[in-house]
Amino acid sequence: MRDILFPSLKRQLQDYGGNGPADGVLTGDVHRISSVEYIDQNPIGRSSRSNPVTYLKAYDEIRQLFSRQALAKLRNLKPGYFSFNIPGGRCEKCEGEGEIKVEMQFMADIHLTCDACGGKRFKEEVLEIKYKDKNIADILELTVSQALSFFGEDKSGTAEKKIVEKIQPLEEVGLGYLRLGQPSNTLSGGEAQRVKLAFFLSKGAGNDPTLFIFDEPTTGLHIHDISKLLHALNALIEKGHSIVVIEHNLEIVKSADWITDLGPEGGEQGGELVFAGLPEDLISCKDSHTGHYLKMALR
Ligand SMILES: [Zn+2]
Repeated sequence: MRDILFPSLKRQLQDYGGNGPADGVLTGDVHRISSVEYIDQNPIGRSSRSNPVTYLKAYDEIRQLFSRQALAKLRNLKPGYFSFNIPGGRCEKCEGEGEIKVEMQFMADIHLTCDACGGKRFKEEVLEIKYKDKNIADILELTVSQALSFFGEDKSGTAEKKIVEKIQPLEEVGLGYLRLGQPSNTLSGGEAQRVKLAFFLSKGAGNDPTLFIFDEPTTGLHIHDISKLLHALNALIEKGHSIVVIEHNLEIVKSADWITDLGPEGGEQGGELVFAGLPEDLISCKDSHTGHYLKMALR
């Protein structure tokens, strides 16, 4: 998937240079998709300055909303004042990090809560601006689920509606428990992958048909979140996209329209095509371990 399918498709579709398999390896209705995305478990950002809401661009809307509160207007606090990435409203002692890193010579760095802002990342004049009793630091502490009900209360507000629309996909991929301001570098690989999926869900309909390749998206997921993930994957399909999933999880395997089973064993004893076809035909394939377990899963 990663070394052959992805680079070959990318070359064919986007005139992508780079090293890859020779042209002509891929045949079929390639023209029916117009781009390809490989959704892996690599971090969405290595810094503590990005987080799920900045990645989904929901933070822009939240800053706008705060700058429109009466006290903010009075103090002439523009949306930029509610950013922890640029000077203005952020605490300058910690530069909006909320903590100070102390480098130790022979030990891991120590992180101390910033004593100037008490870890709140902003100046007092900014923290005094409230939207429904919450300041910007309180908002960043909300979980995705809490934020959805908090901003969803006001059905008439267009800003609130936009915020809800942008955050909703995080809930849909089973990340309702993440805090809005959770630094990206603290997310697990599986969580980072689902934030990326949420990003594509938030883009809405009307995009060019894309082939998404997912590498083991159920890693670290609770059983009840797997059904949410399936739901999210189906939402992409309903928008006209196609999906290839590399997966061992039988809940995902049995939901596929087409299965390519490689084996017969793992690692060096594998790599052969054992089966390709419909899930209901795989269960009668005697050489397939997947088929054996799938039979039990389908019972
Ligand atoms: Zn500070």
